[in-house]
Amino acid sequence: MKTFRIAVIPGDGIGKEVVPEGIRVLEAAGRKFGLTFQWDLLPWSCEYFLAEGRMMPEDGLDRIRHHDAIFLGAVGFPGVPDHVSLWGLLIPIRRGFQQYANVRPVRLMPGVKCPLADRKPGDIDFVVVRENNEGEYSSIGGRLYEGTEFEMAVQQSVFTRHGVDRILKYAFDMAQRRPKQHLTSATKSNGIAITMPYWDERFKAMGAAYPEVRTDQYHIDILTAHFVRNPHWFDVVVGSNLFGDILSDLGPGCTGTIAIAPSANLNPEREFPSMFEPVHGSAPDIFGKGIANPVGQIWAGAMMLEHLGCPEAGQAVLAAIETVLASGPRTPDMGGTASTEDVGKAIAQGV
Ligand code: ATP
Ligand code: MG
Repeated sequence: MKTFRIAVIPGDGIGKEVVPEGIRVLEAAGRKFGLTFQWDLLPWSCEYFLAEGRMMPEDGLDRIRHHDAIFLGAVGFPGVPDHVSLWGLLIPIRRGFQQYANVRPVRLMPGVKCPLADRKPGDIDFVVVRENNEGEYSSIGGRLYEGTEFEMAVQQSVFTRHGVDRILKYAFDMAQRRPKQHLTSATKSNGIAITMPYWDERFKAMGAAYPEVRTDQYHIDILTAHFVRNPHWFDVVVGSNLFGDILSDLGPGCTGTIAIAPSANLNPEREFPSMFEPVHGSAPDIFGKGIANPVGQIWAGAMMLEHLGCPEAGQAVLAAIETVLASGPRTPDMGGTASTEDVGKAIAQGV
């Protein structure tokens, strides 16, 4: 029997409602595949911030450094500014644990109404790989000449060779393992004339080591149009922190709803724990009603199983999700009347 130590951070809002369903399904998968979990529940959240003045304890990262993975719900709640929850919890974990690859599958699932006309399950099945540690999301810069007519704000992007090469290598490795062996790069080297040409140059250099992977690149503006008009073109799409962020919400938007989409923040070298969370946020508008869709959280759990080296268990969870989406109970966001718990229980039963 294999036991995994998982740090659980339900966080805020519906994070607290969907995480227990994720755990329910992982427990069911564990029973079937001979895995056990030790769930270490951590209250780090906006509520914690209001009581303690910080999103997590000062030694927070050290407390979870040796866990096998982190299972996160959502953080952020009205009353605490977004940048506090982001820079106080999510970003320290992503950067502190070198979770530089943010992987978000974009797949049209059976039973999900696609906002794009005439698309069937199977037509859309790709992965967005976002650089998660550097790029445009830097804190280098500031305001100058404040209060004068010359007032300005400047912020620098940072693209290191180490950072760019490791995310491109991760994306090429992934593309190489997939049947279509196709990798698309998001760029904007016409407008962003220093960092993006550098990104393109490293993309080309890395591609030389992967002759079997077909590559192309698009400027981010037209790429967003292709996501909507030609989603079947894509297999693996890699982008910088900002472009990857945009594409990884647009992708799930094109396949129905962000409520069912998962996200993995990976430290591929496994030096530190990786973190698994749904794409959606804490959704304060529906919190407390028991109607949040738990599928994104549960799918994140399936990705966690794969990462922990239990691909059969991960695939069983994904298959159960597909069955329930196609013909099982649905939460109101998908046109049904089921509760969060109803959906979680149905998926757990199907594993
Ligand atoms: P954050 O800044 O934390 O990412 P956000 O403002 O982007 O949050 P979300 O919390 O992701 O917003 O959700 C946007 C809206 O989508 C919610 O207000 C909610 O109505 C709906 N929604 C999101 N997730 C779910 C879910 N799991 N089930 C049902 N509805 C959801
Ligand atoms: Mg959001």
